[in-house]
Formats: sequence, C-alpha cells, structure tokens
Amino acid sequence: MIVMGIESSCDETGVGIVRWTPADGDTPGHATLLADEVASSVDEHARFGGVVPEIASRAHLEAIVPTMRRAREAAGIDRPDAIAVTIGPGLAGALLVGVAAAKAYALAWDVPLYAMNHLGGHVAVDTLEHGPMPECVALLVSGGHTHLLHVTDLAEPIVELGTTVDDAAGEAFDKIARLLDLGFPGGPALDHAARDGDPKAIAFPRGMTGPRDARHDFSFSGLKTAVARYVEKCERDGVAVPVADVAASFQEAVADVLTMKAVRACGDLGVDTLVLGGGATANSRIRSLAEERCAAAGITLRVPKPRLCTDNGVMIATLGAHVIAGGAAPSPLTVASDPAMSVRVSQL
Ligand code: ATP
Ligand code: MG
Ligand code: FE
Repeated sequence: MIVMGIESSCDETGVGIVRWTPADGDTPGHATLLADEVASSVDEHARFGGVVPEIASRAHLEAIVPTMRRAREAAGIDRPDAIAVTIGPGLAGALLVGVAAAKAYALAWDVPLYAMNHLGGHVAVDTLEHGPMPECVALLVSGGHTHLLHVTDLAEPIVELGTTVDDAAGEAFDKIARLLDLGFPGGPALDHAARDGDPKAIAFPRGMTGPRDARHDFSFSGLKTAVARYVEKCERDGVAVPVADVAASFQEAVADVLTMKAVRACGDLGVDTLVLGGGATANSRIRSLAEERCAAAGITLRVPKPRLCTDNGVMIATLGAHVIAGGAAPSPLTVASDPAMSVRVSQL
C-alpha cells in the first residue's frame, strides 16, 4: 500500500509518500520513505518577524500542485492507494488549502481520504528512522506547539498529558531572538548566540514548576517577561546587554523545564521511551539535556533527524499508514479542517 501525506498547517507545504509493508511473522508492519517534498514560505515571513497567516495560505496555494507533482515523480508513482491529510491543529486558511487539494485528488483518483492530526504525525515520523514505536511519551516543541503526549499505539488516539498555557516554546525563542536583534527564525540564531554565553549567568524563572502547578503543563510568558525586563534594565542603566549570556540563560531555562517535565511524565506513566519532535527540538541544549536526563533515568530517547522534526508531508503519510493498517475507516469527502483540533478528542 502506498500512502501520500499532505501537510499545510503552518508555513510548510509538505507532500510525502511512504510504502506500508504489512506485518510478516516477527517483523511488525512498517512504513518506508519514498518521497519527501517540502516547499517553505519561511523567507517570506522573515521581515514580519513571525508567520503571517495570509502569506502562508497564498504560498500553499501556489506550492501545493507542483509539490504534489514532485513527490509523485520522486516516488516514481502515478497515484497513491490512499491520501492522508492534516486537518488540524493549525492556521485555518493554511489548512484549507491542503484539505481542499487532498479531497480533489482523492475524488479524481478514486482513492480513500484519511483525516489526520498534525501532532500524531510528529510522533509517527520517528518510525521511519528508528523502527516500530513502543508505548511512549512524546515532547513536541515548535513555533506553534508545546505538548506532552502519551502514545500507546500510533493507530489509536493519542492522549494529551499537557500543553502550554500561553506561548509555544519555539515562539518564545523567536520573540526573545527578536528582542535581542538576532533575526527570524530566531531559534537557530539564538542557539548559535548562546554558545558563547554562560547558562548560569542569569537566573531566569522556570514557569509552572511549583508544587501546586499542573505537572504536565508549560508556561513561557513569565520567562519572556523576565528576559524583557532584564534587557530593559540594562538599557536604563546604560550597560551593554550581555547578549550571549541572556541567550544561554534563557535557553537553559526553556530546556530545563521541557526536559524535566518530559522525563517526569515518563516516570509518572511508567513508560521508558521518550520521543522528541517539532522544529525547536533542533535546539542543541534541549537535545543535550534530554540525552543527559534520559540516560540518568534509564529512558530510551528517540529523536528524528532535523529534516523530519520540522513540518513535512512524510510524517502525515507515515501516521496515515499506521492508522489505515489499524483498520480505520476513510473520512468522508465532506470532512472539514479543524484549526483548534485537540488531541484529547481523537487522532482522526
Ligand atoms: P508547527 O508549530 O505547526 O509545527 P512551525 O513552523 O511553527 O510549525 P517548525 O517548522 O516545526 O514549526 O519549527 C520552527 C520553530 O522551531 C521556530 O519557532 C524556530 O525558531 C524553532 N527552532 C528551529 N531551530 C531551533 C533551534 N536550534 N533552537 C530553538 N528553536 C529552534
Ligand atoms: Mg515551520
Ligand atoms: Fe508541526
């Protein structure tokens, strides 16, 4: 079975194609990557310092058909056996483009359509590199998301353990990078600037880590405000902002909370696998601290390569393949996009 995945929830138009090989004897069913085409409008958003929904939608509209064609050419196929598409969560106008394209092609090719949750895709994609997914906790961190998920089986609904009550972690990276004049997207620039800084230089707050706070939720707005106040104070006092130290200390605060809560969630559930996903897991400190803490706690850490951590169509194709193999019924062609889709509801 060949599954095409279509992803358009944010600023990447992704079309991926995988082949699903059913379980055979001791070998579990698994997906193999055939094509991974992504067109990103990230450069068009740079001068605004953040993703502009209207620009993203228009870029999807221009990119979707050529990206689908490239993916089919790369995979050497005429048409897939099924189409999986992200219906949420994400930007409303952006999602519409992918969903409309998926429906049109499903109808034209007479192949079934499957509606997918974007977040599940970030977890499923890891199976392409690291094999079948055991029960796990997933920590997803990107410009739009910060989630702790509990996955028992990729074909089953995923349970959300917690999420951010305000900013996403990647968004906080972008905003602080902007405050420090480091450019957009800010995450990689801030990561780079932090290399020359002392992570212990400034004791920035760790949000929602008190005994009465929700164990699996996150908050980054207090941290963001603390960094802004620190920078303002430097300016008021007429001293140069120690950019590298601020970057390193901010990054340490984010990495500390994310990894502490992820490892704690594994302990709470008695799960010994942690999966990272989302563009912000490219962050060097989030990775190194996750490695350190997982090793200390006896947890197996699985991190897809950066290309597969950011948004792409392969992750949706891979999730789709697992869900279809699990026996799910196709979605009706009237299925709507769901910008505020919650993992609490269902995977489909
Ligand atoms: P979505 O939230 O829908 O998954 P997105 O476009 O916001 O989509 P991604 O494309 O997965 O997210 O990742 C981009 C985000 O990751 C940006 O916020 C960017 O700053 C952040 N990021 C990328 N590299 C790093 C890094 N090295 N350190 C910290 N943040 C990073
Ligand atoms: Mg993106
Ligand atoms: Fe994403």
